[in-house]
Amino acid sequence: MAAEAVPEEVLLNNDLIKELVEVAKDTALLHGLLLRTKESPYSSEVVSYIPFTLFPTPVPRDLFQQALQVQTLFNQLVDKISRDSCFLEEALAGPIKVDMFTARLFQIYRTVQQEACAQSIALCLNRSDYMLDLRPDRNATLKQIEINTIAASFGGLASRTPDVHRHILKVAGLPEHSKRVLDNNPAAGLASALAKAWELYGSVNCNSLILSFCDCNAKYDTEDKLESVSPSVEVCFCGSLCMQSWEVRLMMERSQAVKCPDIGTQLAGTKKVQQVLAQPGVLERFFPNEPEAVARIRATFAGLYTMDIGEEGDRTVAMALANPEKFVLKPQREGGGNNIYGEEICRVLQEKSERVAYILMDKVNPQPSRNYLLRHGSPVKLATCLSELGIFGAHIRQGTDVVWNQCAGHLLRTKSAEYADGGVAVGVAVLDNPFLV
Ligand code: ADP
Ligand code: MG
Ligand code: MG
Repeated sequence: MAAEAVPEEVLLNNDLIKELVEVAKDTALLHGLLLRTKESPYSSEVVSYIPFTLFPTPVPRDLFQQALQVQTLFNQLVDKISRDSCFLEEALAGPIKVDMFTARLFQIYRTVQQEACAQSIALCLNRSDYMLDLRPDRNATLKQIEINTIAASFGGLASRTPDVHRHILKVAGLPEHSKRVLDNNPAAGLASALAKAWELYGSVNCNSLILSFCDCNAKYDTEDKLESVSPSVEVCFCGSLCMQSWEVRLMMERSQAVKCPDIGTQLAGTKKVQQVLAQPGVLERFFPNEPEAVARIRATFAGLYTMDIGEEGDRTVAMALANPEKFVLKPQREGGGNNIYGEEICRVLQEKSERVAYILMDKVNPQPSRNYLLRHGSPVKLATCLSELGIFGAHIRQGTDVVWNQCAGHLLRTKSAEYADGGVAVGVAVLDNPFLV
């Protein structure tokens, strides 16, 4: 497998790279790949280009297809877990003892479970993230890093980056290469599902709104796409919250609104649930007569290990202490920058009572590739990079009927290999595109 999408003579030609960088920035601006700046996050007067790679990154076609094809199964799985209160209660019993954030979410889940179910329509917008694991004597395999049930970000921007990469490849004298950058339109897929849920709610008659809580940068993309897929949808954006956010969360959960994610779906996306799913027999519980579905989902799992108090957890700790560099220790958090690596793992594991807040995962070893990362205000230099492929999915259930289950597109993010962790939003990763090989 080639590590880079462009030949060495292009990658290392300084004059050409300088020219391509300028072309890339201008093309990004032309395509509306804009971001407000950190210095003026609320100003529409100051914008810059989104952070992105100069070149797309090679991804084997078969692994890319595998990730797309398994997405509807992950959508089903998330939906099934979100409704299985016994499973969630058992799976999260450890973390909710020591982790206040998960405990509070779970408290809301319990509260609304005990009340009459307010809404039978459930909408999930998911993103399953993968890295391609490379081991000696074996082809790369697709390994799931996590599944996000609360991450629709970059769906809009990702639909416009393919044109930028195609143009760069053409200017670099590689027009044939540009054909291997795929079209992508996650925003349309996600917005169509939102519009469908809104329609099922009966909104055409009762003037309902779609209320979106998001970062100010994300707002226009969603609004724009929603209006194009369903001109009658009205979208309302709130500037700030006035109540305590936990009270707001409980109020939303109790409301008649179709929530995305609802509280059960948010809990289904925790790292602890991911670890429990990897234990023998657990996927079979959700797909009792579908061994093929179980096999396809399980094939994407990396090694995941419990930190519960007991013999099994003790074995995990011993294993991690013996080879900390082979693992990632993960708390029940989202958004990048929370994981623990290397020697730091040993320090955390010495605190026995705290360990149940975490799960342990095999560290995935993707093949590094070289690329230039373009970010407003940062010097451009050749970097050794690692990439993570996200696949978007949308799922709607009404009562017991699944009315929507789709794969909605992809998102490739690339970061300099020196960072172990961190996404686009925290300024580590940048947007990229798969270059199928
Ligand atoms: P979050 O919900 O905070 O995004 P992730 O599980 O995605 O949590 O971890 C954050 C980042 O850490 C990932 O984007 C990836 O770069 C890195 N990472 C997470 N798990 C692994 C793993 N098993 N192997 C290698 N890198 C990992
Ligand atoms: Mg996450
Ligand atoms: Mg992540």
